Amino acid sequence: MKSTAPAPAVKSGIFYLQKICNYNKSLLYSPLPMKPVDKLKLSHTKITRPRKLVLEYLAKQQKPKTTQEICAALKNKVDQVSVYRTVELLKSLHIIFEECLLDEHRYYAADSPHHHVVCRKCKRVECLPCHVEFTPPKKFTDITHHLSLTGICAQCQ
Ligand SMILES: [Zn+2]
Ligand SMILES: [Zn+2]
Ligand SMILES: [Zn+2]
Repeated sequence: MKSTAPAPAVKSGIFYLQKICNYNKSLLYSPLPMKPVDKLKLSHTKITRPRKLVLEYLAKQQKPKTTQEICAALKNKVDQVSVYRTVELLKSLHIIFEECLLDEHRYYAADSPHHHVVCRKCKRVECLPCHVEFTPPKKFTDITHHLSLTGICAQCQ
């Protein structure tokens, strides 16, 4: 009798661990191996119009966006309440990530959480991979960390 081995564990969102932002096409950061919308499909979450629109919008952005910016960009297409709910859902699925950047909560679509450095002169934002690794202390799960990074960009030097 054939053994029914369980299918490989496919956990939503977190299985592509390239530490990059999906929209950055520079040599330093290679493009995303999977479209964010496909990740949503894999998570067995229903792809509603608001979810698709919010995700597509975030995937196109060069830097993390606030919920207000998402609302403004999708005005007349997705109502505000749906934007807020969708952001929470996509965040819980690890398809988008939250970062406090320029004193506001912002969201970005990526394979894994990473960091952003802000130019102190022009506020340009660039992605930075995260290399922080540690063994979580016992009794702690789902640990996150944040870094506030600023610098002077090439254009402003
Ligand atoms: Zn600059
Ligand atoms: Zn990024
Ligand atoms: Zn980090």
